[in-house]
This record gives sequence, structure tokens and C-alpha cells, in this order.
Amino acid sequence: MLSQKILLVEDEQAIADTLIYALGSEGFEIRHVLLGREAFPVHRESPFDLIILDVGLPDTTGFEVLKQLRAHPEGRDVPVIFLTARAEEIDRILGLELGADDYVTKPFSPREVAARVRAILRRDARARNHENTAGKPVWQHEPDALCIAFHGQPLDLTRYEYLLLALLLSASGRVFTREQIMNRVWANAPDTTDRSIDTHIKTLRAKLRAIDPSSEPIITHRGTGYALSSQNP
Ligand code: CA
Repeated sequence: MLSQKILLVEDEQAIADTLIYALGSEGFEIRHVLLGREAFPVHRESPFDLIILDVGLPDTTGFEVLKQLRAHPEGRDVPVIFLTARAEEIDRILGLELGADDYVTKPFSPREVAARVRAILRRDARARNHENTAGKPVWQHEPDALCIAFHGQPLDLTRYEYLLLALLLSASGRVFTREQIMNRVWANAPDTTDRSIDTHIKTLRAKLRAIDPSSEPIITHRGTGYALSSQNP
């Protein structure tokens, strides 16, 4: 299955190392950058499920990094946890309503951070299980069971169909480029051609149509890639 990806923006290597170890041992995939200005480009290139952001960075502040993320469609919804060393920074986090999901004060226990990460990702997953007008979820994704249900009906998916749909579902409304899809879904199959994406989209659409012929949740963005409709049927 796709492991959840976390971006860590932290200039102190020792702190980064403890987090990389703690989160890595829980199965998360961690990318670490040292500078604030690296955060958004890295996230735009390959979106993360969550970002851990140190407030005090050498080149900018974590606040500025978050503002930059929130100003772009690619970074608008990604959950962010601040790491902060000072009480006045906490006041700012709370006072400015910057749209951070949580914060952790240094010194922290890596296990505590891991627990916060898991809690936020669970909450986020629930929010992404969109509900339709009848109050029933359109999508239900159980990553542990590798199971995705559409209108309450579990889909019978091949491995790559599952990975592809799970990726689109991870950020509905977001356009994933063909390159991003190749990198995330076919990461372990470098010989795969571009055409595989279209083939799998086609079979996925057929399986979704079999459940609900009236909706077309996978949207083609010509020349760019694919997105899952954020509009609920
Ligand atoms: Ca720092």
C-alpha cells in the first residue's frame, strides 16, 4: 500500500533525526529539508500527506512557509503541525489563525509527535470521506484493508487500480499530473509506459459506472492529468 508521506522542515539535524527515526519506525515515509524555502517546491513536486514545520528556520519563519503553502491550491489543504520552542510563538500560532492543525513545543517526545500525526491523519481521512446529500459517504477508504468503497459498495480493484484511486482520493479536486501519478503509483515498476495510466483509468471508470452509471467522478484534464471530482454526486 502507499505509505503516508510526511515532509519535515527542520534546521536542527539532531531534532530531525529523532523524528525521522520515530515516524519512520511507524511506517511513515519522511522527506527532510533544512530550509523554509524548500518546503513548497518540494511539496508541489510530490504532495505530502502532512507537513511538520519548525517555526524558527534559518532563512524564513515557519509562519511564512505556511502562508506560502496556503496561498496555492497544492498546499491549501495539507495538514501542518508546527514545532515551536517559544511560548510567544504559540501565541502567534493561535492568535493569527494561520491554519495550522496542531503544534508541538520543544523539547517534545518523538512518540508524542507521532501520536499527533496519526490523530490528524485519521481526522483528515474522515473529512475526505465525502458524504453525499443523503448523508451517506460517497467514498470510504480503509487503507489497512486496501479497500475502497463507492456508494457503500466495496470495489474489486487490481493492485494498480487501487493505488491509482487511492492517490486521487487522497486529495480530491486536485489535479495529479501524469508524472506525479507515475512516480507515486508505479514507483516500483520503472518500465511502465505512460499508457498504463489511461488503461487503468478506463477500467476504473468502468467499475465505478457499474455502481453508479450517472456519475463520472474521475475527471480528465487534457494534457495535464487526472483528478477526482470534489463535487459530491
Ligand atoms: Ca529551528
